[in-house]
Amino acid sequence: MNGNGLEEVGCPVCGAAGESQFALRDWFCGLPGEFGERHCGRCDVFFLSPRVPEALISRYYPESYSAYTADQTPLWIRLLSGWVGLTTRRLRMVEHHLRGGSILDVGCGNGWFLNLLRSPQWQCYAMDIAVNPAVEKGLGVPVFTGQFDHEKPPLADLDAITLWHVFEHLYHPRRALQHAQELLRDRGFLFITVPDLVNIDRRIFGRYWVGWDAPRHLALYSKQALERLLGEAGFHLVAVRPAPYTGDYFLMNLDFLMAKQGRRVRPSRWLPPRLAIAPALWGLARIGLAPVKMYVAQKN
Ligand SMILES: [Zn+2]
Repeated sequence: MNGNGLEEVGCPVCGAAGESQFALRDWFCGLPGEFGERHCGRCDVFFLSPRVPEALISRYYPESYSAYTADQTPLWIRLLSGWVGLTTRRLRMVEHHLRGGSILDVGCGNGWFLNLLRSPQWQCYAMDIAVNPAVEKGLGVPVFTGQFDHEKPPLADLDAITLWHVFEHLYHPRRALQHAQELLRDRGFLFITVPDLVNIDRRIFGRYWVGWDAPRHLALYSKQALERLLGEAGFHLVAVRPAPYTGDYFLMNLDFLMAKQGRRVRPSRWLPPRLAIAPALWGLARIGLAPVKMYVAQKN
């Protein structure tokens, strides 16, 4: 622990000290502190060090942090996204491997994914650190409160577990994979999305890339690193796909740049630029250059 109350750690995969890259601030929520991004060349993993200790990180998840608030996208954009199939793309990617069964959505946030699973062939469960009571009531499925890398819900023989935008937030990624392994049936599926290191946004925006999201994103894993962690936990990788991409992530990079200049404006909330860049970003995602990748793993 250093004088600022931050801690220094090694690579989450191999423990090496890695090489210092640059300093980061909380551009997303504007909370105080300066953190360091390091890179382990052996594993190709970027990780935060110094970082906020686990006991203090909850103060960096204010109510305004997007995953916990209702979807603020205007209705007509949501309808348009639905019409072109973007809204349901993640569900279709899951159903490509599994037509139904029991599924646990870890990090369910505002319940957007569970709402897509509303059909008789899916038996759903949800888990998150904190779930808004109104969201829980609306979901109508069993909701477990807790941190997946500390505890696992009292379930067994699940067909699938989803970790959408969760893995990069975990202090104990190996323990989370172990819990997934114990909860799944043999040949059960684990779906993970993480910010992808191979994308154009990172190259354009550098340290202001939204994927760094300090101090909440503790580590960003390459395919090689994730494959190693999955293999150690008793999984094998089945597929890696670009996750759906509507342009809001790209514009959130501009939010970060504005925040750096002390301007609290959010271009990601402006509709005309979102519409204007959507086709180009959709095309980039089609050739694999999406800022978020979905990993599909199966229990051995
Ligand atoms: Zn390493």
